Amino acid sequence: MTLRITERPSPNHEPRPDGEAIDTLILHYTGMRSGAEAIARLRDPADIVSSHYVVEEDGQVFRLVPEALKARHAGVSHWRGREALNATSIGIEIVNPGHEWGYRHFPAMQMAAVADLCLEILGRHPIPARNVVGHSDVSPDRKQDPGELFDWEGLAANGIGLWPQQDGATDGDALELLGRIGYRTDLPLPVLVTAFQRHWRQEQVDGIADAETLARMQGLIRLMAA
Ligand SMILES: [Zn+2]
Repeated sequence: MTLRITERPSPNHEPRPDGEAIDTLILHYTGMRSGAEAIARLRDPADIVSSHYVVEEDGQVFRLVPEALKARHAGVSHWRGREALNATSIGIEIVNPGHEWGYRHFPAMQMAAVADLCLEILGRHPIPARNVVGHSDVSPDRKQDPGELFDWEGLAANGIGLWPQQDGATDGDALELLGRIGYRTDLPLPVLVTAFQRHWRQEQVDGIADAETLARMQGLIRLMAA
């Protein structure tokens, strides 16, 4: 299936730096009451935010900023030792009211469109699976999106990002493991564990690195090394 994309250009972009590949894909939720409201904000020249794409709850896909340009979706961010990830990333905003306005499940039509869009993007850029992340992974002290209802496991089953297999190892130092995965490590441990759980242990988002959370960290590191 070829994805149909509707153009909704946003002026909120800049050139990308020379000589750096696009190697990170960052997924967000819009966190506003409606998709239309979110798209309007992401196109407002008085505002400073944008994204490359917006995916509506019915699966419609809008392009706001061409991939060749830098959109303003991640802000202060960090992953695997690098900062300010807007320069080298593509950002997708996925319509959902978010934790502030009534967080709810992402409909199947929407997730199918997200998967198709991600696969197209991954086909165009050298983005390793471990660099397919959520806003909360790269800005764990500020952001919760796309959150614990987002089907990361389903995306991974389609070849988008990583999902850890159970491997039995339940030991290890949580902060050290989180650093190896890619998180910044200069934040309080519960903040980082919460961010990890929103992505990789969604049934328990409490900031406590229990045995199962540690096992998933270990499993993820094993996948990253493979
Ligand atoms: Zn976000």
